[in-house]
Amino acid sequence: MKDKEIEKLISSEKKRQKEVINLIASENYVSDDVLKALGSELTNKYAEGYPGKRYYGGQKFVDKIEELAQKRALKLFKLSVKNWHVNVQPLSGSPANVAVYTALVQKEGKIMGMSLDNGGHLTHGHKVSITGKFWVSVPYGVHQETEVLDFDQVRKIAEEHKPAMIVAGFTAYPRRIDFKKFREIADACGALLMVDMSHFAGLVAGGAYPSPFEYADVVTTTVHKTLRGPRSALIFSRIDNRELYKKIDKAVFPGMQGGPHLNQIAAVAVALKEANTPAFKKYARQVVRNAQVLSNELQKLGWRIVSGGTDSHLILVDTWMNGLGVSGKEASDLLEKAGIIVNKNTIPGETRSPMDPSGIRIGTPAETTRGKKEKDMVKIAEMIDKALKKKSKKK
Ligand SMILES: *Cc1c(COP(=O)(O)O)cnc(C)c1O
Repeated sequence: MKDKEIEKLISSEKKRQKEVINLIASENYVSDDVLKALGSELTNKYAEGYPGKRYYGGQKFVDKIEELAQKRALKLFKLSVKNWHVNVQPLSGSPANVAVYTALVQKEGKIMGMSLDNGGHLTHGHKVSITGKFWVSVPYGVHQETEVLDFDQVRKIAEEHKPAMIVAGFTAYPRRIDFKKFREIADACGALLMVDMSHFAGLVAGGAYPSPFEYADVVTTTVHKTLRGPRSALIFSRIDNRELYKKIDKAVFPGMQGGPHLNQIAAVAVALKEANTPAFKKYARQVVRNAQVLSNELQKLGWRIVSGGTDSHLILVDTWMNGLGVSGKEASDLLEKAGIIVNKNTIPGETRSPMDPSGIRIGTPAETTRGKKEKDMVKIAEMIDKALKKKSKKK
């Protein structure tokens, strides 16, 4: 690169990524092919509109790229073009969710998602997000004791508020989600069901986590988490006489966005093809196995795991343990000093502040991409325990 300042910073970041143990549950390492597509000349092209219906000339190749990305997305999740439509243009997960609400929920209509401190995402109606300003949030949470989804509570809130949309699929929830139950509750109160599978899409693709497609009206996902693609998002919608997909396409463009990022869409297509291989299936299963081993080992070492374990790629550790341990911020700082990168996280029933909560969230997608297996997880658990114990009052 001619720009030495940026070149140096990029290479420093590359080195940092290589040197740390990356346990951030929402990160991953993409292939060289994904990077190549992202860094290609496609970034020069304007293509407002959709394939075959663009506002600029010169679209003969980029139309094919967008169509290929769509085709591969449907194929990966075993969806037929007759029943499902996919929009591959959202720039990232948050704008994808906002586009869906814009399309399907009236201004000030009710959105019922999991609260942030119980594991929901900001875009599921939190007050600091645009989704909590333009729409009315009626949040649900997990059961106080078991820390798993409390369907009696979900049903009660749904019956009381009759939301326009129920959102399932979370950011910091380690367990399987019973999508069928969500469907039944949505039907009983006349709500649409959106599943945001941003975190576990790669596990669904690899057959290591339940698929939401049988039950949801709309499924959104980021591509850059377990799915191991570029930063981007997809919106799947069921095709039927409600024509939700038409409204969603209009909400993405021209509703929220201008020209799509074609370099990103090409990289998405590459990642979707990579995810549709036996090697990726193996990867997805290993991600979950690694998380389970890490969770068990930490438990053996005396740490409290929220909900008692995990069925996915992520674990929530209660590091605070009612004052016996260290706060989430302290834990994250201590671990960073030991070369382990995690993020601090609230735990259900949080008693501290979001800036310095009671726990950390750890995930295995990135390290599994780097080839780590069960035995490595045993070692990582010991490293975590050693780093935190120095400071913790826990015996
Ligand atoms: C990460 C995430 C998003 C948002 O993705 P961005 O690309 O960061 O905007 C939305 N929903 C859920 C559940 C997520 O985990």
